[in-house]
Amino acid sequence: MIITHLSAECYPIAKIGGLADVLGALPKYQNELGASSQVVMPFYNNKFTKTHKFKPVYNDTIQLGETDYDFRILTLLDNNLGFEIYFVDVPELLYTDFVYTTYDTERFLAFQIAALDWIAQSETLPDVIHCHDHHTGLIPFMAQESFRYSMLRKIPVAFTIHNAQYQGAFSHDLVYLIPEFKFSRVGLLDWNHNINPLASAIKCSWIVTTVSPSYMDELKQSANGLESLLSDEHAKCIGILNGIDTEVWNTETDPLIIENYTKETIEQGKQANKEWLCKEFNLDVNRPLFAFIGRLVEQKGADLFPKIFSESLFGNDISILLLGSGEKHTENELRNLKTKYKDKYNAFIGYDEKLSHIIYAGADFLLMPSRVEPCGLNQMYSLRYGTIPIVNSVGGLKDTVEDIYDGGFGICHNEVTVAEVCEAIERAAEFYNSEIFKQTRFDIMSIDHSWHASAQSYLNVYNSLNPFL
Ligand code: ADP
Repeated sequence: MIITHLSAECYPIAKIGGLADVLGALPKYQNELGASSQVVMPFYNNKFTKTHKFKPVYNDTIQLGETDYDFRILTLLDNNLGFEIYFVDVPELLYTDFVYTTYDTERFLAFQIAALDWIAQSETLPDVIHCHDHHTGLIPFMAQESFRYSMLRKIPVAFTIHNAQYQGAFSHDLVYLIPEFKFSRVGLLDWNHNINPLASAIKCSWIVTTVSPSYMDELKQSANGLESLLSDEHAKCIGILNGIDTEVWNTETDPLIIENYTKETIEQGKQANKEWLCKEFNLDVNRPLFAFIGRLVEQKGADLFPKIFSESLFGNDISILLLGSGEKHTENELRNLKTKYKDKYNAFIGYDEKLSHIIYAGADFLLMPSRVEPCGLNQMYSLRYGTIPIVNSVGGLKDTVEDIYDGGFGICHNEVTVAEVCEAIERAAEFYNSEIFKQTRFDIMSIDHSWHASAQSYLNVYNSLNPFL
């Protein structure tokens, strides 16, 4: 079965969040199950593309409205990713320093059109096209409706919603950029008088998946305006929980952490990583260390962090370390807090993959007070590294973390307010001093969130679309 995944991000090439982690792992695990899974993504101007070698396999020109753009398809030389990867290189639009910019409508349209042009002329067509998030959301429409891609019409298209908050909507004035189709079908592109790639993907894909079962249920109630569409289309919607790449996220072999450890050496290993963090960030190693890693946006509860941290640090003998970037106002407030709580709090505002691994290894607790969490990978990394997650029970967090009071292994709360999160932190601080704390972190390292089961679920889904695959 040949599966072609299309995405704006893929680890380790370009990563902003969980989308990249999924694309860097799912194809590899599908291949281990006997599929032939490959990824197609844009060619950016970043560290990975500057330090690796590529080979051109195709070149042509696309037309975006009145303008012609040359493009090339490149493949990676010395590929040890576990799957084939192809890059769409449109130098004038896609070769940017950042994955996302302010003119993404044209950029990702160019990506989608060039990718489809290349796929459509291939001698061997894929058995399944699998698109991820709104940056690839017009492909289901174009593959079904654009005359230019009529040879793709019978290929099942799966679409995964990694985050329904971002939909990529743009004005109908730009409809002429989409390769020719019967105009009576324009409704398949529309939502609320705009062209909405996410809505269009939900309408036109053969199957729609979300990255956890609970998130699928929640979207019918709250989906940034797409609730009714998701309710109408529920028969072709299914939630499949993301996995984690247990080869990358392995405390025994992880080259990014300070000291490797196993379940048997967890206490010593976590302590060594914690000591490094505390030295680096001027924190007291004897206090329980609470950490946050992620985007500083409302979805993650980050707007409340200044208040939550102030209250918790004032009343408790704990330390907090934050790694993240996002809304400037929140970043500034979180920076300013450093002077107030010098030896109890620190923050690295920015993106740092290595530091994130050390934090998963060295922290005692990981905070995830997300208002919405489609799946969340951080809590799964944290479990595997013996760090207890403190989560708001929504979406994938609800599907993966159970409270210690209910016989589980995490700290859960049911609302994102300063009071609720502070109470959860207090409960965690008490738990840190309890007899079962060490046993719990020993136990959680064995929880299996690997991709094996989920990769098979995706293959089952593709098979249900075409039983002859
Ligand atoms: P989302 O995709 O909504 O941002 P996920 O929990 O699905 O959230 O995935 C987040 C991924 O991005 C994790 O691998 C996390 O470790 C990583 N990450 C987020 N912010 C940072 C950062 N500032 N530095 C390093 N890694 C980060």
